[in-house]
Amino acid sequence: MPIDVTPEDSAVFARVPSTGRITSQLRHVMTREWNRCTVCGVQGDMHRPLFAGYDAEGQALLAHARCASTIIELATPVYWTEQPDISIADTQMVWRYMDFAKFVAMLQQQGLYFPRADQMDDKFEGAAGNASREAEWDAFYLKFFRGAVTTPPPGYPAPILNEDQIDREAKRLLSSIKASGENARSSLVSCWHANSGESEALWRLYCPPPIAGVAIRSTVQNLWNAMEHEVSAVVGRVHYVDFRKHFAGIGNDRLFFKRRSLSHENEVRIVIADRGGSDPNSRVIQCDLSALIEEIVISPFAPSWFHEVAANIASTMGLEAPCRQSDLLEQPFY
Ligand SMILES: [Zn+2]
Repeated sequence: MPIDVTPEDSAVFARVPSTGRITSQLRHVMTREWNRCTVCGVQGDMHRPLFAGYDAEGQALLAHARCASTIIELATPVYWTEQPDISIADTQMVWRYMDFAKFVAMLQQQGLYFPRADQMDDKFEGAAGNASREAEWDAFYLKFFRGAVTTPPPGYPAPILNEDQIDREAKRLLSSIKASGENARSSLVSCWHANSGESEALWRLYCPPPIAGVAIRSTVQNLWNAMEHEVSAVVGRVHYVDFRKHFAGIGNDRLFFKRRSLSHENEVRIVIADRGGSDPNSRVIQCDLSALIEEIVISPFAPSWFHEVAANIASTMGLEAPCRQSDLLEQPFY
């Protein structure tokens, strides 16, 4: 897509020092606003940059050139992309259903457990699509890259490449995006369920009777807050697609695409680009659980004595959050 940097845009680049410093707060703003300006609320122009940076108070902004007067530090220009819109409202309520052992482990570790994407149950984690369509995907990107290597940016002469060179370069680019897809599978993921209330289906899925379990309730804003020291962390909404007709994105975008057969999960997830660590298959990210968790709900299938046990363990281990019985235990009247 051609980029059209106008004199108004050039003036911003000239006025503001560019640092490349992206804080968790700025990543939050960029993810939530997608291609929209935080100052005027209007979407960016398709061919022009938005400016992601900070004002004098250190607040993160994403702004049009015409709205960028308060930006004093430029982190990065943001060009319109075909990237999926994974934005989700900060106020969205999110849940995590877990058995009691996982709940105790979370309290003891004082943080959230992140398995690596390739260690998760769904073998489509980080997949580009159905294997039966791989040749189609390869052909699409080969054609795209052949176009890209022979089309110079405006004002530059066309490169002189023979057919062999074009072919080789396009194939090299194809294998590099395939490798970036493989890398996505080493990202760390924490899965949450977006819902304004409890889900009987998820209780049955994660804590089937007689397993005693709990659900913890939080918000998208709290997830971002919990990840404030993980600058690569992104909190986003998962898209459910029919892989017979669609492909997932490129690189880490893929982790926000799942098969439509999983749409009941209505998932919001935290994705952290892998940074290694002592256990390569997972990491625990420590955070203030009392700030993260707004409420603990006891499984409707748990025995009656379990509520008190779970509440006691939580408070003994320092978690300050109310603990209540499931709404599903309400009785009907006729
Ligand atoms: Zn604006």
